[in-house]
Amino acid sequence: MSGLFHMLSEEERLFCDMLERIVAERIAPKAAETDETGAFVHDQIGVLAEAGMLGANLPEDFGGSGVSAQALLRAVEIVAAGCGSTVSALTAHYLATDSILIGGTEAQKLAVLPKAATGEMLGAFALTEPTAGSDPAEMKARAVREGDGWRLKGTKCFISNGGVADFVVVYAVTDPEARHRGISAFLLPKGTPGFEPGPPEKTMGLKGGHVFTLNIDCHLPKNALLGAEGQGFRTAMNVLDNGRVEVAAQCIGMAQAALDAAKFYAQERVIGGEALSAKQGIRWMLADMGVELQAARLMALEAARRRELGERFTDAAAMAKLKASEAAGMVADTALQIHGGYGYTRDFPIERITRDLRIMRIYEGSSEIQRNIVAGHLLAQ
Ligand SMILES: Cc1cc2nc3c(=O)[nH]c(=O)nc-3n(C[C@H](O)[C@H](O)[C@H](O)COP(=O)(O)OP(=O)(O)OC[C@H]3O[C@@H](n4cnc5c(N)ncnc54)[C@H](O)[C@@H]3O)c2cc1C
Repeated sequence: MSGLFHMLSEEERLFCDMLERIVAERIAPKAAETDETGAFVHDQIGVLAEAGMLGANLPEDFGGSGVSAQALLRAVEIVAAGCGSTVSALTAHYLATDSILIGGTEAQKLAVLPKAATGEMLGAFALTEPTAGSDPAEMKARAVREGDGWRLKGTKCFISNGGVADFVVVYAVTDPEARHRGISAFLLPKGTPGFEPGPPEKTMGLKGGHVFTLNIDCHLPKNALLGAEGQGFRTAMNVLDNGRVEVAAQCIGMAQAALDAAKFYAQERVIGGEALSAKQGIRWMLADMGVELQAARLMALEAARRRELGERFTDAAAMAKLKASEAAGMVADTALQIHGGYGYTRDFPIERITRDLRIMRIYEGSSEIQRNIVAGHLLAQ
């Protein structure tokens, strides 16, 4: 394990070692096949559930493993290094359960989180709409009181796990006059009449981590409202602070896999009587990749440390996500370059890793949105 993770407890180290073995034996070997077939990563999620990873973001009171934010960062990296599709489905589940943990009532937490932690229930987080991605306050989905409950109506798009999840946390407008203060969150169980997920989108990468358009026109009971009315936007933003550190972890894990692949290839490939790794140009490429990866990891650790301390860490999470996603793009592209023409074929994992990584600069707030957040914080100081 990287020496940077010296703050982990003995128990957390053992957890990460166990996870590394499980991912190497039961998840990574399926990554190429999953990419080819595009089958949803059900089995891999089952393996992670057995390992306790589905509740790694939750406290023990709600059935989670209660690990520190730094251990969670390391654990997500480990899964990401093995399979991008699996880690994207896993972290989408975290966005859903974090929504309940942060915004739900005690009864809602007790009803859902223990089952979500064991994998008995898989979650999805539905914020984005066709005309509201970077600015979710523009959302059109509406929830109005109907009888003793709510009528929830709208369309959500690009929702990871949306069509396979047992429950979806849906964000909708309850008071249009109040802009972002008029947004609330709702728990929408699978199979609710009027809840119709479309087929999975045909994406460039993460082919086993499906994203769906969700058409919703449902009656929901009163207690489907997550926590208090009007708190949804705040909940979503707090969830995304956590989520952005987890995206950074996804990037770091996948970039580590790209660097490892490039190192291996450079040592094996002989050109002009010497290994590629002996050529200064290639060594400098490897060095730059290592530096970028280290910088990304340090920034993600800083965000995780601040999360652990209970401080506001919106700026640190945005910086970590921005740095890690851009660094991972550079690392994967350079790793592919080192592979030459072979890197452009499906015979080597770098082709898949490069495609899987591309979305990291877009989802959970694009690089431009992260820059807006960072600039906002800098200018407010
Ligand atoms: C594989 C995948 C999985 C996803 N999973 C989920 C999920 O589980 N739940 C969920 O709710 N959403 C999910 N999303 C949606 C994702 O978060 C959005 O696609 C993302 O936030 C960008 O929104 P958009 O696509 O509408 O782009 P737009 O908002 O239309 O942006 C288009 C471009 O304009 C730029 N831009 C926008 N505003 C500004 C600005 N103010 N300044 C400068 N540039 C700007 C953007 O950076 C981008 O480059 C997923 C998307 C994908 C593709």
